[in-house]
Amino acid sequence: MEITKHLLMNLSLLLVLLFFTQLIMERQVKEESRKNLELVYFVIAIFTCYIFSVQVQDGISFDLRQVPMILGSLYAGHSFLFAGLTILMRGFLGINDGFWISVLVFTTLAFILKWMQSWFNRLTINQRVGVSIILTVMTSFVLMQMVTVVNQPIRHPEAWLSFILIPALTAGLISYSIETIKQTLIIRQRLAKADKIEAVSHLSAAISHEIRNPLTTVKGFLQLLSEQDYPDEKKKEFIHIAVEELNRAEEVINDYLTFARPAFEKVEEIDIEKELNQVLNVLNPLANLNGVEVKKKYTSGLTISGDRSKFQQAFINLIKNALEAMPNGGELTVQTFPTGSVVHILVKDTGIGMTNEQITRLGEPYYTTKGQQGTGLGMMVTFSIIRAMKGKVEIKSQVGKGATFHMRFNHFENKPD
Ligand code: ADP
Ligand code: MG
Repeated sequence: MEITKHLLMNLSLLLVLLFFTQLIMERQVKEESRKNLELVYFVIAIFTCYIFSVQVQDGISFDLRQVPMILGSLYAGHSFLFAGLTILMRGFLGINDGFWISVLVFTTLAFILKWMQSWFNRLTINQRVGVSIILTVMTSFVLMQMVTVVNQPIRHPEAWLSFILIPALTAGLISYSIETIKQTLIIRQRLAKADKIEAVSHLSAAISHEIRNPLTTVKGFLQLLSEQDYPDEKKKEFIHIAVEELNRAEEVINDYLTFARPAFEKVEEIDIEKELNQVLNVLNPLANLNGVEVKKKYTSGLTISGDRSKFQQAFINLIKNALEAMPNGGELTVQTFPTGSVVHILVKDTGIGMTNEQITRLGEPYYTTKGQQGTGLGMMVTFSIIRAMKGKVEIKSQVGKGATFHMRFNHFENKPD
């Protein structure tokens, strides 16, 4: 079983390497660096086959080299590079019968794979996995036949197992894993895009509501000033109102910029009344649209520690859900109060509510009941921010009655350095 053991070890190493490649790949933003990483994976994979190669008879060695050669050519392109590397790797094992067989088989294979590549890319996932396996089995078979002709028939008892079955298994596992990794990346990108589109439509809604009004007012005053000569007193008053309105528009823009800007990890003193008011300002257009009455029951002067813009992000997501749960109007209550060193924040709505199952699934990535409109990422972000701030969330809800989110944070403390 020596050969089988070697090949299985090689197989596990290839999978472990693939796993780490995936971890690194997830951090790459550029498509190009992902492609390069894929290439590097297959190059390394070919050389691990060299490490695990076993000599079965004079001049003939068994290993999994055909797998990275075939999959590399199909998935990463560059079939001639992979053929060259495979032949080079075989050269390290000695220039003998097996080497010349490799030269012949892999050069021919490189041409075939090059020719197949664009067809391969158009197949479905299952078909691609299938084609990878079939090609591997066929290549292994041709290699065995060539050995029989050039050298001597392979009489090793494990030959079939180790030279046909294990490579086929390896090809299947690796190609299936690559497909899964790619699929996950695509889904993630799509979701990120959906989130951005939502942010953009939200922004335009706010601009039309909250920026057009001040602008219209300012325009009106400027027209008045230009048409008639008012006394100085009156002029000053007009200009004062116009400036106030412009300030308000500026504030709205600033609110949005806070969310658009990538946030620093800062720990500062957060005045929760101020931040919650800012969040409610931003969401005001949505509240008006849904006919929701907003009630604020604050205890003033409560502060906690954390990153301001992250705190806002967490409550934007939370309160937006509450507003979306009341499409036909209702009441949103935002309440804050202290007990001992704990600061409580309650967000209560009178919306559609949730079942217990829904509550337990909250925060699960991509969990949404809003179909195309939802991303199912909002609560995940909210929970992770609250967790990072060492806060706790308790949720109570009844279907048709509404939902209450009860958050607990520690009061801000000035830590001595
Ligand atoms: P999304 O809003 O994109 O669906 P979220 O992660 O923000 O994603 O919310 C996940 C799900 O949790 C929502 O689809 C909804 O079913 C449920 N949910 C969250 N908040 C409330 C709420 N206040 N009332 C009713 N359902 C809610
Ligand atoms: Mg949401």
